[in-house]
Amino acid sequence: MYGRFQQHLKDQLAEIREAGLYKAERTICSPQGAEITLADGSKALNFCANNYLGLSDNPRLIAAAKKAMDERGFGMSSVRFICGKQDLHEQLEKAISDYFHTEDTILYAACFDANGGVFEPLLTKDDAIISDALNHASIIDGVRLCKAVRYRYENADMEDLERCLKEAQAQRFRIICTDGVFSMDGNVAPMDKICDLAEKYDALVLVDESHSAGVVGPTGRGVAEQFGLYGRIDIHTGTLGKSFGGAVGGFTTGRKEIIEMLRQRSRPYLFSNSLPPMLCAAGIELFKMLGESNELHDRQQANVKYFKDQMEAAGFDIHPTESAIVAVMLYDPILAGNFAREMAKENIFVTSFTYPVVPKGKDRIRVQLSAAHDFAQIDRAVAAFIKVGRKLGVIK
Ligand SMILES: *Cc1c(COP(=O)(O)O)cnc(C)c1O
Repeated sequence: MYGRFQQHLKDQLAEIREAGLYKAERTICSPQGAEITLADGSKALNFCANNYLGLSDNPRLIAAAKKAMDERGFGMSSVRFICGKQDLHEQLEKAISDYFHTEDTILYAACFDANGGVFEPLLTKDDAIISDALNHASIIDGVRLCKAVRYRYENADMEDLERCLKEAQAQRFRIICTDGVFSMDGNVAPMDKICDLAEKYDALVLVDESHSAGVVGPTGRGVAEQFGLYGRIDIHTGTLGKSFGGAVGGFTTGRKEIIEMLRQRSRPYLFSNSLPPMLCAAGIELFKMLGESNELHDRQQANVKYFKDQMEAAGFDIHPTESAIVAVMLYDPILAGNFAREMAKENIFVTSFTYPVVPKGKDRIRVQLSAAHDFAQIDRAVAAFIKVGRKLGVIK
């Protein structure tokens, strides 16, 4: 049997390669950080990690994780309803609730699981899910696992959302779900308007804070802080894999009864291992750190501005951003691919995004700024952008 199937896979893989969509991976032989070391010993500046607060190699988090490993072991070897949890899980859930000003929190192995397990336990075929067209793949999959009626509105388009809300009056309950920050453009969802419409049309609100937490809002506490919406967003999902240390882990935080129901019925929680103690301990330390000082958030914001201002001055077309994501628009797939490759030759890692990840003709380079970068490193990135931009005829 495998012979025929093998040929089928080989043909498909060849098609992916020919279409230029094959995803290769580089091998890093150092901690994640502003500067990384590759397998061949060369060094590069990394502008494509979600390491927004620069915590991926933070000594305090590493020390907290090591201590927990010594005191609490390596893994939990079970799910929570069978074997229970450690006090560390409870403390981390409490720290996340405090950070987001929510009532309760439930931990998952990843935000992919949080989104995968949030809709099906709460809603049935009598209900409606109203989803932004650019929501993350994990929200799309979570919606697929639920029998609720689906509505889709154009990215951050409030007229289109209102149209969906009117149509969805046919259902019993409605929930609007959106990413807080959209990862391709770096734009922030208009949460104030979303919450107003939710009130007008009697809908719940879910926001995925994966790219907004630690970034958006005066102290980085996400969209509720940014728009003054504490108490008006019913559910936040998020990850420990981006701003919050960059390891793994996900969470859903929000209204008490919602979280309680997820503990009873959410399948990725019930049927998947609980987080290892070291990740919980590092997470607890992380939220303690973020409570002590706003320095990392401020530095990251300053870095975004420093980079964006120089790029605009150099003549690049920068998509308006309100986050740590800066899209350098190139409007051509081949050009975007070549641009990223040329940047890598300059030892600057940035990502090109082309159709179908972004709409046709909206090809770009995505740059992610971090608190870990210093101005000298950003200067090097801008210099490389200018050199490559001139070589490829993007700027004069
Ligand atoms: C990264 C991301 C996720 C997935 O998070 P993991 O914890 O890595 O599974 C989910 N939603 C959004 C919006 C993301 O950007």
